Amino acid sequence: MIRYAVLSKAELEARVDAVDAGWRTRAATRRNAFIAAGKFQEDASIWSDVKTVFMDLQHDKCVFCERVLGGKLTGKSEHDVEHFRPKGRVTNWPYPKRTPKLTYAFGTGVPSNTGYYWLAYDVENYACACKGCNSDRKRDYFPILGPRGVATTDIATLNASETPLLLFPHGSLGDNPELFITFEGVIAKPIHATGLEKIRAQVTIDFFSLNDREELLADRARVIRELFKTIRLTSDQDPAVQSAAYRDIDTITSNLSPQAACARAYLALAKTTPQKAWEIYLDVDRYLKPAR
Ligand SMILES: [Zn+2]
Repeated sequence: MIRYAVLSKAELEARVDAVDAGWRTRAATRRNAFIAAGKFQEDASIWSDVKTVFMDLQHDKCVFCERVLGGKLTGKSEHDVEHFRPKGRVTNWPYPKRTPKLTYAFGTGVPSNTGYYWLAYDVENYACACKGCNSDRKRDYFPILGPRGVATTDIATLNASETPLLLFPHGSLGDNPELFITFEGVIAKPIHATGLEKIRAQVTIDFFSLNDREELLADRARVIRELFKTIRLTSDQDPAVQSAAYRDIDTITSNLSPQAACARAYLALAKTTPQKAWEIYLDVDRYLKPAR
């Protein structure tokens, strides 16, 4: 998970206007109707009309798991517009299924019949997510440590009072996940040993099953294998090969590439502890070998 698109709200809205000049006016009409009614209610939503804004800002990657999503050119996009705070209701998060059973020593917030209806059309409540993260896992859950915020409270105030347990790596009010989560090989781990930072990292890893989804582990393994081989080429006798290798490392570890946070953690490890980086390379190479 990486930080995406550190834009002010005004900059984000300008991008929305460039895609659909009338969208924010239509969205405001709907928002006002929800506030008057005290709930989210509509037959057909319009947030998908501005989906490409978020696809572009996120370099066509899922905001939570960094998988590259397709379908942009055909119009059959694999991206869903995700509401970080659920728009219609909040249900109790049942914890992911694990053996032994996973529970926390802290509560994760009370449910809500109305959700955060006043944020249904707030662009700072949006991001693009894959179906594995959004439809399968995020759903109507929004675990928090503090009390559930009351209607029409703005996002900055909600963030301060609710203490969301999930990291949201988007927008000016979001988090920088690389201050919370690092990677040891393909495995996501909290950076901090204690405190709120550790709790938020661990819940985010558990919530989105970042270490249990084979597609994510395979993505990270492929990135590490490629990065290891590229790092080796920086020692090549031919200066042109060396230069190409350094350029490739920049690309592999840039936000444009899949699993960039994992790639950056592996590059840092290769510089400080090359023996450990070699052992991880051997592990991922074995992992990626086709089963016979
Ligand atoms: Zn995802």
